[in-house]
Amino acid sequence: MNLDAQAKRWRRSLDVRRYRWRRVGDRRWRCEKPDGTAYTVNLAAGDRPASCTCPDAYYRGDGQVCKHILCAREAERRWLLSHTAK
Ligand SMILES: [Zn+2]
Repeated sequence: MNLDAQAKRWRRSLDVRRYRWRRVGDRRWRCEKPDGTAYTVNLAAGDRPASCTCPDAYYRGDGQVCKHILCAREAERRWLLSHTAK
């Protein structure tokens, strides 16, 4: 399954709006769950692969990404839209 298909699946099962997203740097996002748990997601940039501080991401290798990374991509997409569309 490619990343976009994966992202669509996650968007259905876990709405990006359930998390609070804060942009904390270039291609870097902080994700806060309703229960207060927070993770930092680094989106891929240049040679750096995407990464996340959650335990889930830690156990996945080989191009598999956790739902936070997928949601962060969506959050960034929305952020870019709202900051470029005038
Ligand atoms: Zn994660």
